[in-house]
Amino acid sequence: MKEYLNRLPPDIREIILRAQETGAEVGCRVFLVGGFVRDLILGVKNFDVDMAVESDGIKFAHALGNKTGAQVITHRRFGTATVLMKPHGKVDIATTRKEDYPHPASLPEVRGGDLEDDLLRRDFTINSLAINISACGFGTLIDVCGGKRDLLAGKVRVLHERSFIDDPTRILRAVRFEQRYDFRIETKTRSLLKAALQQSILQRVQPQRLRDELILILKERCPLRSLARLRDLRCLGFISPHFSLPQVTCRLLRAIDKEVAWFAANHNHRRHLDAWVIYLIALLEHLGEGQVKSICDKFVFRKSEAQKVFSFKRFPPAYVAMLSKRALKPSWIYKVLEPLSYEEIVLLRAKYRNKVFRQHLEEFISIHNEIRIAVSGHDLHGLGVSPGPAYRRIFKKVLNARLDGKLNSRHEELMFVRKLAKPYLTR
Ligand code: ATP
Ligand code: MG
Repeated sequence: MKEYLNRLPPDIREIILRAQETGAEVGCRVFLVGGFVRDLILGVKNFDVDMAVESDGIKFAHALGNKTGAQVITHRRFGTATVLMKPHGKVDIATTRKEDYPHPASLPEVRGGDLEDDLLRRDFTINSLAINISACGFGTLIDVCGGKRDLLAGKVRVLHERSFIDDPTRILRAVRFEQRYDFRIETKTRSLLKAALQQSILQRVQPQRLRDELILILKERCPLRSLARLRDLRCLGFISPHFSLPQVTCRLLRAIDKEVAWFAANHNHRRHLDAWVIYLIALLEHLGEGQVKSICDKFVFRKSEAQKVFSFKRFPPAYVAMLSKRALKPSWIYKVLEPLSYEEIVLLRAKYRNKVFRQHLEEFISIHNEIRIAVSGHDLHGLGVSPGPAYRRIFKKVLNARLDGKLNSRHEELMFVRKLAKPYLTR
């Protein structure tokens, strides 16, 4: 595998070399594993390096952190750690281990094991490849389950018959990898998956674990692919018994793909967009508020995420009609759109195709929401206005006047503020 490793970007090669040195110092063998090896062989860019270390991954992670000056986050209970590399990318480090599942869908009991044990506990053959990066044996591929063969044939295959029963989240993972790489879930694996579904196995999983996998699906480039596949497998009930994927939602999801790309190409520098939240809002859009609330509660979505779902639902249709008219006052557009998150604004553009409407939304993002007033609290204080709610009222009026083009310089703003300030003057 040396030729594959040589093709990696220099910063990742550097990390691998430092890991090799660290392994020698700490006295343990170090391997690249999991998604990183899979993507390396497929030629897919991946800056998240997965490593497995025999004996003590935590000790290794601290030593690697010291060597590279990177921040280390450890999870002692699982023997795992993350080393955050600058300026981007991370190394996930796991202590090689064996796992036993005491009950279906439970969390595994973990005990020490060697590399082979660690590869055999994994979800799919394509994720169970390792490359030795220790000085002795550097570059050797370790393939105990035929992962390379499946990778080249485009097959998602579990390692053993109980895989989906032990950990039903693998059902969602199987579909995600299948759709991401345009692979097929291999025939026997598909039968095992369907048999597991017939036992309603997903209902036994802790909802937060399902939520995490759902979020990963929504973070894929085109989530509809996995969602449609899950629908065909009759598997979407894990979201809610009421949940469905009607044609309107499918169309909306496709439109979001385009709008997210548009935002990335034109406005990425303005604000970080959580694209997966846009897909989540869209998925829940056709459900009633009560149903949405029980989904948000069950999955324990963050308050800010749930708020966006409800805020979008409550956006008045009358505003959509108004925003589809030409010649609107910018201050009115600002008043209507400013309370929304950018996720909601991008979703509005995906949902409503009216040109004028879409233009107003784009102008809000690129012009109106970028305008900053020049006067400050310092100026108001200088005029003799005591700090308090009056400040906000005055600033709002100045902003509206700026938005509507009535003020064009700091000087004009100051003149305007002088008039506004009169009723509040204390001296
Ligand atoms: P991605 O590109 O989406 O990050 P990944 O394969 O790197 O894919 P991770 O969730 O980062 O996925 O997990 C890293 C590795 O850990 C996987 O490749 C797999 O070998 C193993 N793994 C993750 N989740 C499970 C699971 N539920 N059961 C067994 N092994 C798992
Ligand atoms: Mg990964």
